[in-house]
Amino acid sequence: MNIHEYQAKELLDNFSVKVPAGKVAFSGEEAELIAKDLNFNKYVVKAQVHAGGRGKAGGVKVVDTPADVGQVTTDMIGMKLVTHQTGPEGKIVSKVLIEEGSDIAKEFYLGMVIDRSKEKIVIMASKEGGVEIEEVARKSPEKIHKEYVDTSVGLQPFQSRRIAYFLGLDGKAVNKAVVFVSGLYNAFIEKDCSLAEINPMVLTGDGEIIALDGKLNFDDNALFRNKDIEALRDPQEEDQLELEAKEVGISFVNLDGNIGCLVNGAGLAMSTMDIIKFHGGEPANFLDVGGGATTEQVTQAFKMILSDDNVKAVFVNIFGGIMKCDTIAEGIISAANEVGIEVPLIVRLEGTNVELGRKLLAESGLNIQTGTDMREAAAKAVEAANS
Ligand code: GDP
Ligand code: MN
Repeated sequence: MNIHEYQAKELLDNFSVKVPAGKVAFSGEEAELIAKDLNFNKYVVKAQVHAGGRGKAGGVKVVDTPADVGQVTTDMIGMKLVTHQTGPEGKIVSKVLIEEGSDIAKEFYLGMVIDRSKEKIVIMASKEGGVEIEEVARKSPEKIHKEYVDTSVGLQPFQSRRIAYFLGLDGKAVNKAVVFVSGLYNAFIEKDCSLAEINPMVLTGDGEIIALDGKLNFDDNALFRNKDIEALRDPQEEDQLELEAKEVGISFVNLDGNIGCLVNGAGLAMSTMDIIKFHGGEPANFLDVGGGATTEQVTQAFKMILSDDNVKAVFVNIFGGIMKCDTIAEGIISAANEVGIEVPLIVRLEGTNVELGRKLLAESGLNIQTGTDMREAAAKAVEAANS
């Protein structure tokens, strides 16, 4: 799960990670009042959306007066922000963060993720802050320093100092960076983060180390023990189809391709995506209706797939174990009756009640292509989507 920058900063503040003073606002008038109240020399107005790259896209503005804060906020709210992370559809801005403008001496990058192969947390730091770190990693990986932390021992002060020295810090700034890095690490562990990224972390003119930006991602599987984090969820920022799926108890992940997949079992869903790719196609989604799906759930799943305009073919790949093939067939038929299927439908059914399932589909009058096995059906789906 993702949260907004303003939420991340509030959280980090509790872990001794220094952040600029600021407050979230939902309208121009509110923003102006907040700015008057905060009374800074300089203000930064920042669009709050779950995507980075806002600076380049016009989502970060530095202004001098509360009146300007109000004006810039009015312009920003309701605007569609398109950054390299939002995709062409962009994200609508509905709130902004009003912050004290910082006097930036240097911008750094600081990030933490879990390195699964090493079974450690890796902390990455670079002098190349404020820019796309993926670009730095590609062009000059030596500019990124990595510290691996064994979680049973915890982050050691010498590791934080090594990061500070790598960034070229000296004097009091070293200890400030140590407090900053260990604070971020503690937040990462305590709140079950999967990613923590401060880009940029800055050294200010008066020698402070502060988080100018803050991105935190959390492990969904640990949210049950982090109710405070769960409460920060912003449904507006989440994929609407994925939310719908969650509500009806289906595992669904929206993807960029054009072949809709309806599958039972996460393993078969993964291999279905693989085999589509193997034949040169691109899946539009990952969808696991699960073992015990009802006709209603299958209908819902099928409607979700069809609601995606990118979908040019649907590939139903079912191995009926607990799941019965006739349930799947009934779901397909009822979804087709409700919303109509205008794209080619390729079905591969095997397992429990397969004869009944095939019979229902054959008698439904739907235009269905079948495959005798998964490979043949996948090849047909790719061909159908591309033609
Ligand atoms: P992102 O583009 O979505 O990652 O948003 P950031 O929060 O990283 O802001 C983008 C850039 O705006 C930063 O790299 C800074 O250069 C600039 N910026 C952000 N806050 C301030 C500030 O307080 N003062 C100044 N001068 N620039 C800022
Ligand atoms: Mn940033």
